[in-house]
Amino acid sequence: MTAAATIEASPSQAHYLGTVMRLKPGAEVALFNGRDGEWLAHIERIGRGKASLAIRSQLRPQSASPDLWLLFAPIKRGPIDFLAQKATELGVSALRPVITRNTAVERVNVERLRANAVEAAEQCGRLDVPEVAEPQPLDAVLAGWSPGRRIMLCDETGTAPPVADGLPREPGPWAVLVGPEGGFAPAELDALAKTPFVTRVGLGPRILRADTAALAALSCWQALIGDWRQAKR
Ligand code: SAH
Repeated sequence: MTAAATIEASPSQAHYLGTVMRLKPGAEVALFNGRDGEWLAHIERIGRGKASLAIRSQLRPQSASPDLWLLFAPIKRGPIDFLAQKATELGVSALRPVITRNTAVERVNVERLRANAVEAAEQCGRLDVPEVAEPQPLDAVLAGWSPGRRIMLCDETGTAPPVADGLPREPGPWAVLVGPEGGFAPAELDALAKTPFVTRVGLGPRILRADTAALAALSCWQALIGDWRQAKR
């Protein structure tokens, strides 16, 4: 994006601007594309399924979210959309559905999750959108893992150290791993516990639903080592 350029909105963006927001020519909007920061623009023309926007000036430079992935076993439609939105607000850089032994839901509508992530990024003022990966078996994901990325494994068995004690305060790339509604299989937890880049943590005495556990874990990570330690936006 550059000042004085004109951008054509996609049909769904034009629908949102014209029909949902009822904006007219001259109205100001803020734009971002995930690469060039945030820009002030005004609507030049708007009609059925079409809108053109003239870019004026940059409002904010591009900023990156922490390098934090969320690996989660897919859950039902509804909760999974909620999870994609809220994890985006909490600042994840990638959403990676993983199929574990007890995962009941294997099909994931990746396009719908992406749309949820875009909407949540717009809402919360993020200038980047998390990548949403196709679902993959957990074994395959771990086989291709680069050991420089640590995993915070949410372990519901009550035997892992509490997160505030157990999480190494190491910056750098991380992933939070949350199991399915049926929990991790004991063999999965054994294998994960022996993996050098994995740290097991507990999230208190109650069994949380998978979506709650994911959002609680991301919040703890952000507060202990992530960007919640910064005072300002
Ligand atoms: N069916 C299992 C619960 C699974 S909860 C049982 O009854 O034991 C789904 C996932 O959320 C778990 O696999 C774990 O990753 C996470 N989780 C839930 N509660 C947790 C807790 N108290 N501490 C850490 N992780 C938790």
